[in-house]
Amino acid sequence: MQIKLYYGDFDSVTQQISNDNAAIRIDIHFNASENIEDNYSMCLVRDTAEYSQHIADTLVFETANKLGIENRGTVKLSRGERGHILVRSTKCPTILYEPCFVSNPDGANVAKNHRNLLSDALIATLKKHMADGSLVAIVPGHAHKQTNDMGANVHGGGSEGQYTELLAKELETKINEPVVHTKEMIQVPDIRFTLNKMKQVGTDSFVITHWLLVWFVVLIILRKIYR
Ligand SMILES: [Zn+2]
Repeated sequence: MQIKLYYGDFDSVTQQISNDNAAIRIDIHFNASENIEDNYSMCLVRDTAEYSQHIADTLVFETANKLGIENRGTVKLSRGERGHILVRSTKCPTILYEPCFVSNPDGANVAKNHRNLLSDALIATLKKHMADGSLVAIVPGHAHKQTNDMGANVHGGGSEGQYTELLAKELETKINEPVVHTKEMIQVPDIRFTLNKMKQVGTDSFVITHWLLVWFVVLIILRKIYR
């Protein structure tokens, strides 16, 4: 599974996601209300989209569960309702994800300090429903739009678009983790780096032995050169 983030205005994002043949599109938004008490999880999908609803049900369940707030489930949008154009415009299943309310102090705290709960909910959902090689299109709502619309105000300061972007990036980092090759450990000929490394590994004699071996080889080469 691969995560790709899409920024910009609606039409170009929609076009790019279709061109890339993404398996699913998830638009991240935070909800907001005049009533500061309001705070629940919900997802929105197209009224005719059974498959999208199936995935959205998992996502909203995982989210409400992790945050310990009410699960308002998946809402199906019909023609004319706000958000309907969004959830019907891309050819792949599309979910409008609204994990919590940033107008509520607890919801704002999640957006600012506990985004890991949301990325975990997204990952659990995607791992359950998406095939191995599939491309997941993530659209952080309000981030980098030409129209300068940063979305809802977050309780205590900040705007929705800041935190949808941070969440999207966190999800991208978690899923698209780079593969670390152990050979990369022995290629830096810097003595300070070596000493720091040895301090770090402490009594891990296996690694220390390897580092000593590298320096032994370096010394032999130096001797050959300057003899
Ligand atoms: Zn929004």
